[in-house]
Amino acid sequence: MGTTHEVFNQPPPLVGYDMFATDEALVDGVTLYGAESGELSELGNVAGSAHMLEQARLAHVNPPILRTHDRFGFRIDEVEYHPAWHELMRNAVGFGAHATAWADERPGAHVRRAAAAYIGAQLEAGHGCPISMTYAIVPALRHEPSLAQTYEAKLVSRIYDYGLRQSTDKQGLIAGMAMTEKQGGSDVRANTTRAVPSDDGTYLLTGHKWFCSAPMSDLFLVLAQAPEGLTCFLLPRVLPDGTRNVFRLQRLKDKLGNRSNASSEVEFDNTVAWRVGPQGRGVPTIIEMVQMTRLDCVIGSAGLMRAAYVQAAHHAKHRSAFGARLWEQPAMRAVLADLKVESWAALAVALRLAAAVDQNDVAFGRLATAVSKFWVCKRGPMVAAEALECLGGNGYVEDSGMPRLYREAPLNSIWEGSGNVIALDTLRAMAKQPSSLAAFLEELALAKGADPRLDAAVSRLRKQLPEMRGSDLDALQVQARRLTSLMAVCLQGALLVRHAPAAVADAFCATRLDGDWGGVFGTMPPNVDLKAILAP
Ligand SMILES: Cc1cc2nc3c(=O)[nH]c(=O)nc-3n(C[C@H](O)[C@H](O)[C@H](O)COP(=O)(O)OP(=O)(O)OC[C@H]3O[C@@H](n4cnc5c(N)ncnc54)[C@H](O)[C@@H]3O)c2cc1C
Repeated sequence: MGTTHEVFNQPPPLVGYDMFATDEALVDGVTLYGAESGELSELGNVAGSAHMLEQARLAHVNPPILRTHDRFGFRIDEVEYHPAWHELMRNAVGFGAHATAWADERPGAHVRRAAAAYIGAQLEAGHGCPISMTYAIVPALRHEPSLAQTYEAKLVSRIYDYGLRQSTDKQGLIAGMAMTEKQGGSDVRANTTRAVPSDDGTYLLTGHKWFCSAPMSDLFLVLAQAPEGLTCFLLPRVLPDGTRNVFRLQRLKDKLGNRSNASSEVEFDNTVAWRVGPQGRGVPTIIEMVQMTRLDCVIGSAGLMRAAYVQAAHHAKHRSAFGARLWEQPAMRAVLADLKVESWAALAVALRLAAAVDQNDVAFGRLATAVSKFWVCKRGPMVAAEALECLGGNGYVEDSGMPRLYREAPLNSIWEGSGNVIALDTLRAMAKQPSSLAAFLEELALAKGADPRLDAAVSRLRKQLPEMRGSDLDALQVQARRLTSLMAVCLQGALLVRHAPAAVADAFCATRLDGDWGGVFGTMPPNVDLKAILAP
């Protein structure tokens, strides 16, 4: 029994709170877009419960194990997960954080789904990967209506039915995606996996994939070289006759973060797959899936920022130094308010992008998703690092949960198009689809006159937006990040001045748009209303 000292001035664990109701930006956003909030309230409480937060920790500290062979030496190519992983998955599927929005006729269905995924990201990011891919596969699969008809109902099902069995024996399905190969991930045209047509209309794929996350999923969209060029395929792990498709798991990646989620290297050897979309049109087909996973990168990073801010604020409210609670100390309030503004802006744009899916506003979604994927995912690591520091040394220790956020933070910027690739994609979208730039500028115009600093930033942007002709693209590459960043903050500013509390919008415009900012969190000008930003 330790009697050397009394333990005091340590915050209580942050458990038993409602991740929905306590998030003003989320409640406002869900209301703004007319999405159903009843279930989100329930999810907010479940996700913030001591039990689920413990499942998140357990899933992280007990990473998945690869089982290539059974005890008798037969190949099984399975991954064994801790029960906590399955509970996280069951919870996410049960609350419809995956594909349900595609079958949900209610207004704001995709916003509701985005809100559920955002709450899920605060709970545990790893399981968000298969949840997101199951959401994202649906629009791509619809390119092949017969396959969509066979599988869609089980992809949108709210039953998490784990295990490698034929789909007819399952009540719900999970999906993955495999594009990246050893020689190139961004440039998928370099794929070498071959697809040979069979007489029965299927294709036999031979080759490898260097990254294939969630390998225990039921279905995968993959790219392979067919006779007429790079083509998209649907590849099942179990064939309709109940036998296993060839899916040789070579290794699981030993990752920086995202450790609850298995990411594998896999080989195909005459692996059966069905064509999705025309031969030679693999990239335009799978891009429908990639577009949705990019949206989920924005949602995921917004969730991570919120989780980081909430932990930092909680700590500050309960910890004292130099005779006063940190929450009351001006320098700490400046940091926390700045973090909260960043988190608010990230969520505002995430929900706006989800609303564009609800509205089938393809032109706006095309460009705004790329712009926001670049920016919001880049901001995540900075928020995680600063929030961690708010906890002092405790934030550097695993028990606090902050290292999990910190290690997770860079991932959303890497996958589904790394920073440069996304910034270049922004240029490409503007050049090739002028309607996307028009829709983007229209969105900014809705906020015209609301704040002179936003107006000035938008006019700077308009001046920088060059003639978007194909021949100019190469010359513009060096400016891709600069332009994309300005577009991103203009979009966030435009959303905040219209929909956020005045203090949040004012702080954002002063710092991110007007440049009255030191470039690190906690350097907002003295006249911002910290009290209003940090309320309640
Ligand atoms: C944890 C994890 C899970 C993953 N899961 C999957 C999965 O399930 N399925 C899947 O298919 N992939 C998956 N990936 C792979 C991921 O999508 C790729 O790593 C990513 O697309 C980048 O490809 P690459 O690694 O080949 O990098 P490269 O393409 O070699 O790029 C390296 C760097 O160069 C930059 N770059 C590339 N082209 C240009 C250019 N023209 N100009 C300037 N800069 C450029 C990129 O932005 C990047 O920073 C996963 C990755 C991780 C880390």
